[in-house]
Amino acid sequence: DGITLEQVREYVWEIPQEGDMRTPARVLASEALLEEIKEDKTLQQLKNTTHLPGITKHAICMPDGHQGYGFPVGGVGALDAENGCISPGAVGYDINCGVRMMKTNLTYDDLKGRETELVDSLFANVPSGLGGGGIVESGVDTVDEILARGVDWALENSYAVEDDLRHCEDEGTREEADPSKISQKAKDRGKNQIGSLGSGNHFLEVQRVTDVFHDEVGSAYGLEKDQIVVLIHCGSRGLGHQTCNDYLRKIEKQHQGLLNTLPDKELAAAPAGSQLAEDYYGAMNAAINFAWVNRQLIMHRTREVFERVFDQSWEDMEMDLLYDVAHNIAKKEVHDVDGEKRELYVHRKGATRAFPAGHPEVPKAYRDVGQPVIIPGSMGTGSYVLRGGENSMELTFGSTAHGAGRLMSRTQAKSEYWGGDVQDELEEQDQIYVKAQSGATVAEEAPGVYKDVDEVVRISDELGIGDKVARTFPVCNIKG
Ligand code: 5GP
Ligand code: MN
Ligand code: MN
Repeated sequence: DGITLEQVREYVWEIPQEGDMRTPARVLASEALLEEIKEDKTLQQLKNTTHLPGITKHAICMPDGHQGYGFPVGGVGALDAENGCISPGAVGYDINCGVRMMKTNLTYDDLKGRETELVDSLFANVPSGLGGGGIVESGVDTVDEILARGVDWALENSYAVEDDLRHCEDEGTREEADPSKISQKAKDRGKNQIGSLGSGNHFLEVQRVTDVFHDEVGSAYGLEKDQIVVLIHCGSRGLGHQTCNDYLRKIEKQHQGLLNTLPDKELAAAPAGSQLAEDYYGAMNAAINFAWVNRQLIMHRTREVFERVFDQSWEDMEMDLLYDVAHNIAKKEVHDVDGEKRELYVHRKGATRAFPAGHPEVPKAYRDVGQPVIIPGSMGTGSYVLRGGENSMELTFGSTAHGAGRLMSRTQAKSEYWGGDVQDELEEQDQIYVKAQSGATVAEEAPGVYKDVDEVVRISDELGIGDKVARTFPVCNIKG
């Protein structure tokens, strides 16, 4: 396929700058992961990204990278916020898809024998699947409030406590949100989905901590071996999807000149300072707020379910939010570039912010150890908690991976796996209880469709962009 890769040093590969590339591109991976990355269009897409005006240092592919819409999933692109551009495809359709981890003081022994009861109750109470229906029934007024204020809205309406806000990226609210830039169609899609998992890759998983690798950070995060935690993965539902779509179409039309200089139409971008760049940024930030409220409501409902199943208050079970972090987002951030401070639109698509110890945007409770990073693996393997590493600002604009990363398409997955068999096997071999809206979803999300999360995390740790803190293993899982 003709893409040259040069090894810069261990785990760092470079596509050298040539032709109309504005910078080189970099892949962070072991040889084993690189072989998988080479299987699809990831490298070509990464290379294409370097044609975007204002791209800074290099386009970067994380160890879990795979192909996506225009820009790879597992991609980081920092584009100058004054002379560069912003690209909806480099944020992703599911704006602020992300994960949050809630702790408990329960141990695996407290839960053993009640997995079925718990998974059934979660499945019955947390809305999921393609259909409508959320935790909050609302009109457009509520949607607008949520879009404008994020988790502040949830706090005011008793779906959150102060502590939840303190343990969320940006405290759960993007100030730059502009609900008036979200279309009526997007709002209509969102209004029946406030507090819902959605389908496919989104899930709620009860897990137990199997390893704590780092005592100091583990204790700052409040993680211990055998502790039960809950991982919630979802995003902005139809509202975010519609918003991405709306702006892609507008930008393609309005900024055709720029589009014609790009090797792929899917990279459509609005020049910094243009009306559409401003509008998209306002809309995207509003969709970000929507997604944070979505995860907050699901966590709130999960606390209620645990209260009923374990007959204790959630406060007594210490069901506190460890952290919530986005992995489909673009944000104006100031970064040090060759000794100069520059404002950049940092696009993280299938990539997680991973700010190191001392960074002012890391919550106070974690400032001395670094920002928590949550990396799901699969419903049959493990997941990880990392902390933002010392080298992340220098190497990745403060980012790391977001998951194990897909190895095969959904279509291929369905031809290789049968949902019912996957479920039976998980239960019989590993005592993992999975409940899903459809068997097809289970097949599409079978553990075998994902890469090796241990290897992804090892590379993040070796490079010092996100360091291993703890590993978890699934107990039960609900899927859309
Ligand atoms: P994405 O946001 O790209 O859809 O997914 C993020 C990551 O979640 C995937 O790369 C995969 O490693 C992980 N993942 C998908 N399904 C599950 C699941 O059911 N449980 C866990 N723990 N991780 C999952
Ligand atoms: Mn998503
Ligand atoms: Mn996601």
